Amino acid sequence: MQKYIDSHCHLPKSGDFQDAFARANAAGIMACVLNATKETDWQQIINIANENKNVVGCIGIHPWDSDTASPNWATDMSTLLELNPHIMVGEVGLDKTRDNFAAQERVFIRSLELAIKYNRVLNLHCVHAWDSVLHILKSYKKSLPKIVVHGFDGTQNAIDFDENLYFSYSPNIAKPNYNKIKLSLCKMPKNKILLESDSADLMPLLTAADAVLVARSDITATDIYNNTMGVFFNG
Ligand SMILES: [Zn+2]
Repeated sequence: MQKYIDSHCHLPKSGDFQDAFARANAAGIMACVLNATKETDWQQIINIANENKNVVGCIGIHPWDSDTASPNWATDMSTLLELNPHIMVGEVGLDKTRDNFAAQERVFIRSLELAIKYNRVLNLHCVHAWDSVLHILKSYKKSLPKIVVHGFDGTQNAIDFDENLYFSYSPNIAKPNYNKIKLSLCKMPKNKILLESDSADLMPLLTAADAVLVARSDITATDIYNNTMGVFFNG
């Protein structure tokens, strides 16, 4: 059976993450990167990751939730990253479709600084905000950690920006009219391509995988699996 890794999934709103993960395992999705959206997710994700070496846990505050962060969020996040060397940073970033942009920028910059300090992979959410994200990343260019751009929208400036950026394709790639994403995939360096469900149900990753592999006959599911292992599991 072909093996896959989901590079961006979430906790279910209700129910047990382990059930969804077991179903995914049976379909070949052997590992996953489990992202937080808010502080109350953090300890739960750390516990799941500590119990299962095939789950990479990430802690962070989603841009949509930035203005509800507690006053101590950055100190708490720093402490947890220090205590848990296998925990990564995510989901963090900027989203110009929301009106809490000042709070988003504060949280994103601080989260990026923590990812740099502890040398952790950062899982990036960027919607209509590449100008601001690249402007911020430029100030840290010499020390950037590995950054996984989740649900990549196909922006060429991002692909060209830095060798530490990787690009994860969601099931959106299979939808009609997502031409910018499809065009970016034709030109994406082989070793930069990752796959994700962006969901608490990991199975939609297979939809993304099918679409990516049809569009890129020069790469295999094993290549993508190895890319993901390299980013999240081997250093
Ligand atoms: Zn997400």
